[in-house]
Amino acid sequence: MKQIEHWIDGKVVASTSGRRGPVYDPATGEQTGEVALGSVDEVDAAVAAAKAALPEWRTTSLSRRAEVMFRMRELVDANRKEIASLLTAEHGKVLSDAMGEVARGLENIEFACGVPHLLKGGFSEQAATGVDVYSIRQPLGVVAGITPFNFPAMVPMWMFANALACGNTFVLKPSEKDPSVTMFVAELLAQAGLPSGCYNVVHGDKVAVDRLLEHDDVQAVSFVGSTPIAKYIYETGTSNGKRVQALGGAKNHMLVLADADLDMAADAAIGAAYGSAGERCMAISVVLAADSIADDLVGKIAERIPEVKVGPGMEPDSEMGPLITGEHRDKVAGYIDGASGEGATVVVDGRRPADDAGFFVDPTLIDGVRPGMACYDDEIFGPVLSVVRVHGYEDGVEMINANPWANGTAIFTRNGGAAREFQFDIEVGMVGINVPIPVPVSYYSFGGWKASLFGDTHMYGPEGINFYTRGKVVTSRWPDPATSSIDLGFPETR
Ligand code: NAD
Repeated sequence: MKQIEHWIDGKVVASTSGRRGPVYDPATGEQTGEVALGSVDEVDAAVAAAKAALPEWRTTSLSRRAEVMFRMRELVDANRKEIASLLTAEHGKVLSDAMGEVARGLENIEFACGVPHLLKGGFSEQAATGVDVYSIRQPLGVVAGITPFNFPAMVPMWMFANALACGNTFVLKPSEKDPSVTMFVAELLAQAGLPSGCYNVVHGDKVAVDRLLEHDDVQAVSFVGSTPIAKYIYETGTSNGKRVQALGGAKNHMLVLADADLDMAADAAIGAAYGSAGERCMAISVVLAADSIADDLVGKIAERIPEVKVGPGMEPDSEMGPLITGEHRDKVAGYIDGASGEGATVVVDGRRPADDAGFFVDPTLIDGVRPGMACYDDEIFGPVLSVVRVHGYEDGVEMINANPWANGTAIFTRNGGAAREFQFDIEVGMVGINVPIPVPVSYYSFGGWKASLFGDTHMYGPEGINFYTRGKVVTSRWPDPATSSIDLGFPETR
């Protein structure tokens, strides 16, 4: 059975914690590996390696740091298939989707290649007589990333590319459910010329996370995962004096107005609800359908569902794979079990027999859903699409704005005025207009509002650069006997 160990100070380090967690092939349900669950001492070793690497990496020139990112860009590009296959084997998502994940992660490495430009400061000559003022941004030091299972390649790339390019050193605690890809990426970073100790991976669970949150040498923590853990990470990390950005869960609504192109909306709903088996924080899990077109839309979605090819991620025909674990499959099925009892109608039921191999739930459609039902109130994180019928624009917007989560949302309409009003009114961090999964490109930043983000800074893009650096302003005067004198007053610009 495959053993997955840590990556510390440029090499694989076998764990001595005595604790290991199972890694499965979700398509068969069989255990394929064991991952080390790191101890406090192992986290300390990774942080110590990152701290030791910091002085050299911090002083490495911008152009050299960019060069490492350019090389990494080439290596990830050349190894797309290898990375995608590794993550499909442990996550279960289909290979084409995994390739898409790698492509979206790679964008962040490409963005980080521009770090010399991104770290340019401002300069004011002659702010006072003979005095110049300028701003610079400097790295924070050792920073940590804690990542979820659903994007094991992309989400770490959201973090480490900018963190390293800005001159920080990095400790990653990836999801223990699909950990292998981070080890392969570590090897690529080493091949790209990143010095040992700059990027470290400690696998594990709460023990490793808690140690990172309390470690005095960790300056900042980036987290992506579920809302309760995001809140915990934010509160614990900030109370220990760290800078924290913690992205949480989601319940993303797609509002379909009466004038929308219903075929386009139905196609979009299928892709956004069932792609990656709904295990995306930007998945659409609720369609708000205007009353007058709701029957039509539900019919169009239902007739498309049998076309979705569900199967093992490695099979070329598969369009949707299994869920991450048997436990998660049972949890998702539980929401379908409960829906009818709460008064909703299960239009397409994706539950499979209990003795079915693998962690599959087929695409499921539930109509007549209302707030207050568990399938509406909870983040299901599976291929279950709920339809809520609304009177129209105002009713839909009110429902979206009343939801505690606010990661992504979309409106489907032909009315430009309504779309523009939606963009203005809606209290959600990422908005799509006839685009169901509006994940920002890497030169914007990613983040929700409300319970989908704890902290002030969104992930990656310009806000990522700000998160991983702190500003300094220098006021400078060079000796000039003509202007030198003693002055006890508060400095004024003159
Ligand atoms: P999770 O919260 O269970 O785990 C995320 C990370 O936290 C993992 O590394 C895990 O080991 C660690 N962790 C889990 N429990 C912990 C605890 N009690 N104390 C300390 N650390 C703990 O999330 P997941 O199941 O891996 O991922 C799915 C969730 O992530 C969904 O809620 C999804 O919406 C969310 N997500 C959000 C975004 C976003 O950008 N907002 C992106 C991807 C995923």
